[in-house]
Amino acid sequence: MNELKNCPNCQTELKSGLMSSVKLLTKKATGLINEYGEKKSDGFCTKCGKGIYEEAKTKLEAEKNKLALYLKNKISNIPVISAHTPLNWDYQVLEMVTGQSTTGTGVITEFTSSFSDLFGAQSNRHNQKLKSGENMCFAQLRIQALNLGGNAVISTDIDYSEIGTVKGMLMVCMAGTAIKLNNTEVIKKEKAEIIDKLSYANNRLKELQKFE
Ligand SMILES: [Zn+2]
Repeated sequence: MNELKNCPNCQTELKSGLMSSVKLLTKKATGLINEYGEKKSDGFCTKCGKGIYEEAKTKLEAEKNKLALYLKNKISNIPVISAHTPLNWDYQVLEMVTGQSTTGTGVITEFTSSFSDLFGAQSNRHNQKLKSGENMCFAQLRIQALNLGGNAVISTDIDYSEIGTVKGMLMVCMAGTAIKLNNTEVIKKEKAEIIDKLSYANNRLKELQKFE
């Protein structure tokens, strides 16, 4: 490759000196500027590129945060169902997906509380912890399905087991089959739209990793 003498964008002469130097920005920085900036060029130098590079970095962070927030808030729309062959669903099977979570249900520590307390409050707390364990597993299945290019999980199975010698440690395991549902119109319309957006958001986030 011929070494450039001038910046492709601002034509400033490139030079490396102790007192003053003008260099080309890296390929990655150039890609980032071209992704977000209004000016596109094969290259930018330290003179013309610094400011727009910082701007592009800020825009990248903002987009990443927005996408991550959307995924976090909407991922529960990805269907995770127990049916093996849902009626009227047209889909490709992708891969098995699994989720695990361990929760201390705290049976022992709460034993000291009064007896009346035990039934109401404790079983409530117990259920809450189970629920949060389940939710964590659901989220794991969903994100794996998205990462595989899928948009739903079928044939899902849940298992609960007590683990270890400490009483009250509970493990929730979930396994299902990630699929790519082709006719999302079988799902409620608003939900189908969110599912498409989730796939887009997840893919876009992955794409943006190249700028890191
Ligand atoms: Zn330049």
